[in-house]
Amino acid sequence: MMKADLEKAFNKQINEELFSAYLYAAMVNYFESENLKGFANWMKAQVVEELNHANKLIAYLHERGATVNLAAIAEPTAAWKNPLAAFEAAYKHECHISDCINKLYSAATKANDHAAASFLTWFINEQVEEEASADEAVQQLKLAEGAPGAMFMLNREMGARQPAFPTTTSA
Ligand code: FE
Repeated sequence: MMKADLEKAFNKQINEELFSAYLYAAMVNYFESENLKGFANWMKAQVVEELNHANKLIAYLHERGATVNLAAIAEPTAAWKNPLAAFEAAYKHECHISDCINKLYSAATKANDHAAASFLTWFINEQVEEEASADEAVQQLKLAEGAPGAMFMLNREMGARQPAFPTTTSA
């Protein structure tokens, strides 16, 4: 059985992941409004990933016989100064999520819940990727700054990203 404090911390993380999906959905809207369909596509894949993260946590709580509480999701920012600012916000957000996951892992360890800590290692590793992919986009956008041709290419490249749909309930 999961301890009440840890259950609460897991529920908070579910809300963080759903907010992440909401934030990236707002970025999809922003890029669509700027006619940057490639960037919008990249963010659409990001929305799917975040929903997967939330679902993974929800399924885990169910598996443990814990209670899932779906709290209200905060309203995300709706517009950014330029694509670079949006991706910088995405990178900053992923760093915040890494911090949340690390704290959740610490809470699981403190509760002596080794099963929960073991489950969370997937998220710890996932965050390395999440930070890296957002940072890569930031660096590429910095290189493309003031060069419309490079921006055009980058938008096209990011249009190729496919969402990673889970193939099993554990992925
Ligand atoms: Fe996430």
